[in-house]
Amino acid sequence: MTSGLSPEAVASRKARLDAVRRRMEDFGLDAMLLSHGADLPWLTGYHAMPLERLTVLVLTVKGDAVMVVPELEAPKVPEAGDLFELRAWSELEDPVQIACGILGSGDGLELGISDQASATTLLALQSRLAGAHWRPASRVTSELRALKDDAEIACLRAASASADRVAAALQAGDIDVLGRTEAQVSEELSTRLISEGHEHVNFAIVGSGPNGASPHHDAGARVIEHGDVVVCDFGGSLAFDGDVGYCSDITRVVAVGEPSDQDALKCYEVLRIAQQAGVNAVAPGVSAESVDAAARRVIEDAGFGDRFIHRTGHGIGIEAHEDPYIVKGNETLLKPGHCFSVEPGIYISGRFGLRLEDIVVVTDDGVESLNKADHSIAMIGA
Ligand code: ZN
Ligand code: ZN
Ligand code: ZN
Repeated sequence: MTSGLSPEAVASRKARLDAVRRRMEDFGLDAMLLSHGADLPWLTGYHAMPLERLTVLVLTVKGDAVMVVPELEAPKVPEAGDLFELRAWSELEDPVQIACGILGSGDGLELGISDQASATTLLALQSRLAGAHWRPASRVTSELRALKDDAEIACLRAASASADRVAAALQAGDIDVLGRTEAQVSEELSTRLISEGHEHVNFAIVGSGPNGASPHHDAGARVIEHGDVVVCDFGGSLAFDGDVGYCSDITRVVAVGEPSDQDALKCYEVLRIAQQAGVNAVAPGVSAESVDAAARRVIEDAGFGDRFIHRTGHGIGIEAHEDPYIVKGNETLLKPGHCFSVEPGIYISGRFGLRLEDIVVVTDDGVESLNKADHSIAMIGA
């Protein structure tokens, strides 16, 4: 992928760079060094492979934006007008010295570093820039990244629609479940995500019967039986026009015939109402924690409060999990463009697990659910 960013994509990146620089000023940062993680593609369109060779965008508050990349990776950096200057380093050069040379002496510098930069990278920079103070780049970027622009929402909507088509196939019984291992079903969900337009699969959790009670169960060798309730949570990323991919993330539960555990259907009805209550609570000006509370209250009132063992949701974008987190204690007020999951669950150890997850986006006057796949527990493969 050596193509360039579209003019619109370059224009939106310029606006993001300006917004980042304004916040750098507010926080008193002289420069940011953006290595691995989502900040770099969000600002430049370039998703660097997490290699040991140094890739870093050196972004000064005054105006320098220099992408320091290994020469052999440079062909993959998209053409992006004058968004940044490209400085490809050859195998015999010292990239840390190149990056630090842009900043001069480290004395008294206030610097941001990618949260996901490797420790080796940070240690090398620190030894060269003695006297600098370091802060995580997310202090500057995460609030900005959490608010999606129209192009990003279009990407997220397409990713969700693609995941919905896989969910619909699962619910229609088009994906064989009975008699197969969780791993086989996981494999098919992954293959279908790709054939429905995803570029990458991030995960395909399949938790059958008692395994469903572990929310992030690794799909394994258990053979799915008649009467099982099966939690399927899958997602990946999908890109437009050679730009950066945005993530999908959906959870649906299917029953292989009549559930052998009679409580599963009763609990699922509680869960369905809780998930809807969470979505209904979403609006601009409402706190993130109140969305969690709205979903949690339904489950608590039904007596399963201690079986809902995780937060209600997470933001989603270039990363599968990012701000804002929908959790007690997060008083962030939601704004149009915030995009996150609403995914309550009920987990009964040794018996079954249930989770229902949609991605939603805050609109000017409420909420739009990006996932539209049916919310009922589909009975399949009986
Ligand atoms: Zn999860
Ligand atoms: Zn999920
Ligand atoms: Zn999720």
